[in-house]
Amino acid sequence: MIESSRLPFRKHVCHTVPLIPTICFSSEGGLAMMAPKARKFLSADALFGMLRTGFADIADHRPGDTDISLTDALMSAFALFSLKSPSLLAFDKERTEGNLHRVYGIERVPCDTAMREMLDPVEPASLRPLFTDIFRALQRGKALEEMVFVEGHYLLALDGTGYFSSQQIHCASCLEMHHRNGTVTYHHQMLSAALVHPDKREVIPLMPEPIIKQDGADKNDCERNAAKRLIAKLRQDHPHLKVIVTEDSLSSNAPHIEVLQDHHLHYILGVKEGDHAYLFEHVAAAERAGRVLSYDREDTKTGLRHRFRFIRDVPLNEANGDLRVNFLECWEWNRDQVQHFSWVTDLRVNKGTVYQLMRGGRARWRIENETFNTLKNQGYHFEHNYGHGYQHLSVMFAGLMMLAFLVDQVQQLCCPLFQAVWAKLGSKRRLWEKMRALFYAYALESMRHLFEALLYGWKKMAPILVLDSS
Ligand SMILES: [Zn+2]
Repeated sequence: MIESSRLPFRKHVCHTVPLIPTICFSSEGGLAMMAPKARKFLSADALFGMLRTGFADIADHRPGDTDISLTDALMSAFALFSLKSPSLLAFDKERTEGNLHRVYGIERVPCDTAMREMLDPVEPASLRPLFTDIFRALQRGKALEEMVFVEGHYLLALDGTGYFSSQQIHCASCLEMHHRNGTVTYHHQMLSAALVHPDKREVIPLMPEPIIKQDGADKNDCERNAAKRLIAKLRQDHPHLKVIVTEDSLSSNAPHIEVLQDHHLHYILGVKEGDHAYLFEHVAAAERAGRVLSYDREDTKTGLRHRFRFIRDVPLNEANGDLRVNFLECWEWNRDQVQHFSWVTDLRVNKGTVYQLMRGGRARWRIENETFNTLKNQGYHFEHNYGHGYQHLSVMFAGLMMLAFLVDQVQQLCCPLFQAVWAKLGSKRRLWEKMRALFYAYALESMRHLFEALLYGWKKMAPILVLDSS
């Protein structure tokens, strides 16, 4: 029996921050709006400062004196994604130069061509410390505590996605698909990783791993190789982070599971009958022998019914008989609809854990829904071509966009002011639109100034906002 993990599963208690600012009495005895306490060092303004410092550490590839610093070029590209500006041209620097200076700390804003030329040779890997810095700030602020899934363990969802495809435009990093008629399709993909939680919409992305043509290799890279690199780097950046990796059924293969085990990562991985016939036959034979356990659960609140079937210590496939996994499957009835899911895991499966394991396995879709769909459809223009470059530009833009998404997710998770603005405006699209409109029209001092203007109205007296000075 597999007992590598003895995580006692207990009910997760979610500490949510109220979205609506509370009303309380000011010292003068009058009514004043007071938003809940925020962590100042996780505010957008503090994170922009952290990013500027991180960008300044990236070596400039250009010799001699330069007109515009690489830091300004990187920060300008970041501001583009932070403001969800649909194109470099729409990013009207003439009108917004003052705001770009005050809000994003940009000394001199490059024109779009200069920005592309300056960023193209920069190694995308140089963005890694910036993701790690923000992650550390979240840890320091204990902001990740509400993302804990079970007993100090986080759920980390991994998934690959494509974001560029063309028959003409290409660069040194492009993956190539050669067709029979002699044409070539060039495309870009990346493997993303994000902390997810079944009860939370927020996700915390880590540095994505580009799936690109590798140096000196003719062959295209693949998601499995990218996963190997991502996991090794994850352990370098976070040697002690307690992680349960959750992925789709493509990842349920022996070499990948061995990589996870080698890096002390737990897992809940999807399996499919069509792809894992040997495993499912083994389970069917065990069922006939009476060795498969089952458990029924009915949720009176939601009206959902679940039936779980599980068995410990089964071989994943015929070729790797010594790789033993625990298997669970679940049917969920919602009135007359039924859904079926199945996973393998190294975590203990029993009546006390299967429900939580099922929630962990299904939280994987948050990387598709809350990450990729948000980037593609909620204003980030993920698949939009901002310029491809010849070396790394396309990959750099994807990394900078993920960084802007991370800063936004931190605001969504930790900033009561952002939460209140979002609640007031009703949708992210509307929020980004209003944000850009103000950014282009008024002189702003900071992102906080902008959020306050959106929440309380322009030209109104600034509210009292309690901020933690720690
Ligand atoms: Zn390319």
